[in-house]
Amino acid sequence: MSLKKFSPVLAAILLALSMPAGSAGLPRNLSALSSLSLSNLEAQDLSYMREEEKLARDVYLALYEQWGLTPFSNISGSEQRHMDALMQLLRKYRLADPTANLAIGEFANGELQALYDKLIAQAALSDVDALKAGGFIEETDILDLRDAMRNTHNTDIDTVYGRLQCGSRNHLRAFAGVIKAITGRAYAAQVLAQTDVDAILAAPREHCGR
Ligand code: ZN
Ligand code: ZN
Repeated sequence: MSLKKFSPVLAAILLALSMPAGSAGLPRNLSALSSLSLSNLEAQDLSYMREEEKLARDVYLALYEQWGLTPFSNISGSEQRHMDALMQLLRKYRLADPTANLAIGEFANGELQALYDKLIAQAALSDVDALKAGGFIEETDILDLRDAMRNTHNTDIDTVYGRLQCGSRNHLRAFAGVIKAITGRAYAAQVLAQTDVDAILAAPREHCGR
């Protein structure tokens, strides 16, 4: 409906009523938008983590098909939920989804594509190599989330990263447990310090905010 249909006085009153008090004349939705601002680094991290969770999901889907080990099936479902949590943040902050229209095993980021190809090749060697590929992904995830948490000042993002990192510790415990059951040997750290990995493996399974 056009304001031209009203008298100028009525139009002025309607305009005044539409201005929220105490927000320097900014419409309410604009001042809400400004609180959703991210640094370039935070935006990059969100986008990268979304694709890194896809890497985890896609590798585990492929390895479940190849080796039929239950942890790959269970954990791929968990990685889908991690991807979903990051998608919610991408939507909230109005960022594009880097994984849009990508098939399983396809990545926009060249480094993640190379890592996927390398892990799939390694995992073809034996079931233990496949489980070690899982351990490598979880350790990498824990490390990258640690960096991303340092880079963010938004509590909603920090909370999601923390939950994902908790999930990664559980996944690492699961893979390390099966490796030990098969080989009889303790899990050797691949990305993190051995002391960090040992501390995670010594702690019980976590609930991760649920
Ligand atoms: Zn994950
Ligand atoms: Zn994981």
